Amino acid sequence: MKVALIGVGQAGGKLAESLASHDLARSSVTGTLAVNTARADLQPLHIDTLLVGEAQVNGHGVGGDNELGARVMDADATEVMEALSGRVTSECDAILLVAGLGGGTGSGGAPVLARELSEVYDIPVYALGVLPGRNEGALYQKNAGRSLKTLAREADSVILVDNDAWRAAGESMDEGFAAVNDRIAQRVGLLLAAGEYEGRDVAAESVVDSSEVINTLREGSLAAIGYASAASSEDAAENLNAVTSVARNALLTGTSLPDATEASSALLVVAGDPDRISRKGVESARSWLGEETGTMQVRGGDMPLDSDRLAALVLLGGVERSPRVREFFERAGAAAEEVERADATESLVSDDLDGLL
Ligand code: GDP
Repeated sequence: MKVALIGVGQAGGKLAESLASHDLARSSVTGTLAVNTARADLQPLHIDTLLVGEAQVNGHGVGGDNELGARVMDADATEVMEALSGRVTSECDAILLVAGLGGGTGSGGAPVLARELSEVYDIPVYALGVLPGRNEGALYQKNAGRSLKTLAREADSVILVDNDAWRAAGESMDEGFAAVNDRIAQRVGLLLAAGEYEGRDVAAESVVDSSEVINTLREGSLAAIGYASAASSEDAAENLNAVTSVARNALLTGTSLPDATEASSALLVVAGDPDRISRKGVESARSWLGEETGTMQVRGGDMPLDSDRLAALVLLGGVERSPRVREFFERAGAAAEEVERADATESLVSDDLDGLL
C-alpha cells in the first residue's frame, strides 16, 4: 500500500521519520513531510520539513494550545497543501497523517489538514493518532479528546496508538519514546507493506493486498492494530499452534489500544516464510478473531517474509464501541472540566490581584 506521510507536530514529525526509515526496503512511502510551528522540533529531523505559523508564533510553537494550533494550520493550509502536492503521487493508495493528539500543533493541526486533504484528493485520508498515556496531565487528555472527535469526523479512519500500549515495563515516557516510535514504525510499516511484496514465487491469491486494508478501515472511524511474533518450525504442519497463538497474542496482549476487542471488521495478516504458514492455523485463527471481536467481516492474507519466525498483524476497523475508547473519552471529559475549573480559578485570582494592584 503506497502512502504519502505527513507528520504534524513534534510526535508526528518523529514518527513520520521513523516510518520513513523503516520503509527503505519496501517503497510503500511515496513522500514524507514534517509540519510544525516549532522550529526547534523540526531541526533534528532528517526528512523534509515545513515551518508554519511564523506570522503568529514566530517559530516558537503553540505550547499546549490546540485551538491556536488549528487556527495556525488553517491560516497556512494553502502553503502546506502546495508542499504536499508533489508527494501525493498518482501511485498513492492513501494519505497518512501522523500526530500526537495530546499536544498543540498536531492535536489542532491534524484535523484541519485531514479536512483540506479530503477536499482535494479522492484517495482515503487516514490518521495515525497517538493518545496520551494515563499518567499524562489533564491538558493532554483534554486536547486529545477534542482532537480525536474532530479527526474522526474529518479523516476516513484514525488508527489509534495509546502511548501506554507499547512501552516496555520500566521505560519512562521520555526515554521510551524512541523505542515506542520504533515499535509503532515496525508495526504500521508492516501494514503499509501490504500489497507491496514483489519477489518469491508464492500463491498470489493468499497474499494480502492494500484493498484489504482499505476495506477493513472503511467499516468505522476508529481503528487499532495488534502485533505478535513467535518462533516457528520449518514444517508448516507443525505450526498450527504457532499461527493461532500469534494471532491470539496480537489481539489480546499486543494491540495499540489495549482492550479494544470489539470491532466492526478485522484483518489478519500472517507474516513469515510461506512454507512455514499453516493454512489450517490461518483458518482457525481467522474464525477465532471474528468470534472474539464480534464481527462477521474478517479478512485475511499472508505477507511473505524471509524469516524463521511467524508474526501476526491484526487490524481492527470500527473500534469505537470498545470499552477502551469509552474510558478514554470519559477521562478526556473529566480532564476538560478540571482544566476549565483551574482556568476559572486562575482568572479569579488574577482579577483579585488586579483589584489589589
Ligand atoms: P505538538 O508538537 O504541539 O503537536 O505536541 P507533541 O507532538 O509533543 O504532542 C504531545 C503528545 O505526544 C503527548 O501525549 C506526548 O506524550 C506525545 N509524544 C511526544 N513525543 C512523542 C514521541 O516521540 N512518540 C510518541 N509515541 N509520543 C510522543
